[in-house]
Formats: sequence, C-alpha cells, structure tokens
Amino acid sequence: MPENIPPLPDFTRWPSFPFEGDMRVKPLAAPVEVEPPRSGEDAADCVACNTPDESYIWVSERWRVRAMDRPTGLPMVLILECRSHLDIGDLPNLLAAELGVMTVRLERAIRSLDGVARVHVNRWGDGFTHLHMWFLARPYGRLQLRGTFLTLWDDILPVIPEQQWRENLAHVAAWLAEFGGKAIAEPPHIQWESPSTITYTDTQSTQQSTTPTPPPADPPRPDTFNDVDAHPSSGAVGPISESIPTQRPAPRDPDAPASHPHTEAPSHP
Ligand SMILES: [Zn+2]
Repeated sequence: MPENIPPLPDFTRWPSFPFEGDMRVKPLAAPVEVEPPRSGEDAADCVACNTPDESYIWVSERWRVRAMDRPTGLPMVLILECRSHLDIGDLPNLLAAELGVMTVRLERAIRSLDGVARVHVNRWGDGFTHLHMWFLARPYGRLQLRGTFLTLWDDILPVIPEQQWRENLAHVAAWLAEFGGKAIAEPPHIQWESPSTITYTDTQSTQQSTTPTPPPADPPRPDTFNDVDAHPSSGAVGPISESIPTQRPAPRDPDAPASHPHTEAPSHP
C-alpha cells in the first residue's frame, strides 16, 4: 500500500548520492533465525588461505595486499589481508599492532598516487571470514564522491585505463616493499608501438609512429564490493588476483539479497 511506504531518507538528497528520479524504499525482509556461515568459515575452504602469493601485488611474512582482477572506476581499490586465518576481532596483539602500521602505510602509498585525494579504509567482512580491509581511492577534485557512496561510484565512473592501473599497482607495491616484504606487481611492459615511446628522428619513424590503439570500450567490471554474496571464484580472470573472494558472476542479479555489505551509519562529509 502506498501509505505504508516509508519516506526516502535524507541521504537520497545528499550531493554524493549517485541516483535521482523516482525511488522508493524496498520492503524490509524478515530477519532469519540463524544466519548462514560466512564464506571460508573453515580455513580449508578459505579462498584467501588457498590463494598463492603470485595473485597478490605485495606480500610479507604476515600480510598480503591484493587488487581487483581488473581496473574499475576509482584510481585504486586494494585489499589488505593477514596471512593467518583470523578475523579482526581475533587478532593477537602483534597482528593487531601491525594492522595499524599496515593501514597507515598503505593509505600513504595509495594517497601518493597522482590524482588521488583521499583514501577510504573500510572493513565489512559480512560475507567472508578471513580479515580483509578495503582501501578505496577517491579521485582528486571529485567532491561529489566524498563519503559513504564512494563504493557505488566505483561502479559508475568510467573504468580507468589498464596501463595506468598497472602502473599504480606497481607504484604501491614498490612503496610497500621499501619497508619490507616483496613487491609482486611490476610496471607494465613498454608498448614499443606507442608513439610516446619512439624517439627516432629518421624517416622510418613516421611509419612506426602509428596511431595508438584506442582504448577499448568499458570492459565488464568486476563486482568489487559484493562480498556478502561471495563464493570462491572458480574461473581465473586475471593475473592480479585470480581468486578474489569477493567476485560474483556477472551480470549482477538484481534480486540478490544485500548486494552491498556496507552497513555502517552514513557519514556525510
Ligand atoms: Zn583464511
């Protein structure tokens, strides 16, 4: 009945809210008596524990950092994980202290990238047992993206060029490796056919300086934040993180429950 539909909350009128037009609040599903287990409750089935170091961009004795399997709309989205099969509340003091250090270090590394204004640090973990902290870079100047809805904008913005994305990954990995551990991500190989890399001045250069291949149309996006519906990835997609536990098959199921794990109170900037 229309009179039973609750009014739209204030945040739908915030400048950062990505949608406009006619909307209404969904009916609230009944609570379940017993919640289902999160993915990876058993370490033997944990995707993080079973993913090799090669799928990460940087690794150390007790921590690893991984990226999405391909670029998205934000300049950088990374996940910090401990090697131990623990969630945040289970960390012993050593790992708890190191989590603080790693959080600061990774935030600085991402914020040092060109075009990054702020780095959002989030821990949801509603769909996946093994601790994973999200680091999301907000593009400089995009004030409309400040605050709670940055994760939504990641799926709305044009996908950043893969070359730039890989350079950024290598930059962050190298930054972290300055303090220890091992960088896995490397800068992309030089594209010799690109005019910008050709310095010849002889007559043959004009033949080689062909127009660069135009960037492809927006590729399919990874499902970046839907770890509520996570299940182990069976199909390796890319070299960066073949087994991202947050992946879901595309296209997205509009009727899937709780398609976004963000349950924190809105923090309007
Ligand atoms: Zn695990």
